[in-house]
Amino acid sequence: MDSFDADLFVIGGGSGGVRAARIAAGHGARVMIAEEYRMGGTCVIRGCVPKKLMVYASHVRHELDDAAGFGWSIPSATFDWPTLIANKDREIARLEAAYTFNVEKAGARIVKTRAVFEDAHTLRLGTGVRYVGENWSGGAVRTPSYTLVDALAEVNWRQWRMSINATNLFNKKHYAACLSRGDCFIGADRNVFGTLTYAF
Ligand SMILES: Cc1cc2nc3c(=O)[nH]c(=O)nc-3n(C[C@H](O)[C@H](O)[C@H](O)COP(=O)(O)OP(=O)(O)OC[C@H]3O[C@@H](n4cnc5c(N)ncnc54)[C@H](O)[C@@H]3O)c2cc1C
Repeated sequence: MDSFDADLFVIGGGSGGVRAARIAAGHGARVMIAEEYRMGGTCVIRGCVPKKLMVYASHVRHELDDAAGFGWSIPSATFDWPTLIANKDREIARLEAAYTFNVEKAGARIVKTRAVFEDAHTLRLGTGVRYVGENWSGGAVRTPSYTLVDALAEVNWRQWRMSINATNLFNKKHYAACLSRGDCFIGADRNVFGTLTYAF
């Protein structure tokens, strides 16, 4: 595959993007997928998975409270927050690696950077200034506009490719646009990551 030559270019390595990339690549299409943060997207990194792990963890207390009624004698239990968080982060990293592996195994190429349409036929990858205008959620909740700077450096040598990518380079604090149902989040902090790839 030429560096910027693809039948399908997917923006976003979340549930939808990963599925689209894998299925298309499985049918023989040349697929590239850009992800500016972490493969897996909202569900794996911020949403479904961490939420479920935290909710399951909170249920244990109730199970322990009820246990005596079911005949269990359990010595007084202790809880360690850092252990829960470390294990939750480890599970997310495992899933992120699995998503990455499966996309690459299907034959799609992952570009760890932000992708922006310059016009109908031009995509800008990586370096640039990103302006996001103010957003109104449901006509009621306003998130102000913000400007962020991203950077990308990539070196290709024979079958090797090394890239370093930074999003929100100056670590600007901002609010991401609220979702239509009103869920609001702090925008992503500075994120710097490197990728070393060898093509067989
Ligand atoms: C707190 C929470 C809990 C949830 N729990 C559940 C649940 O239990 N079950 C369930 O089914 N659903 C749940 N969801 C919904 C689920 O997360 C979404 O439906 C799903 O993630 C949508 O997938 P997607 O691929 O459309 O988008 P996303 O998963 O959001 O992926 C979009 C990806 O695109 C990347 N991206 C965006 N713009 C660019 C760009 N210009 N260049 C490069 N990359 C870019 C982002 O970094 C992101 O990784 C939950 C959501 C939240 C917020």
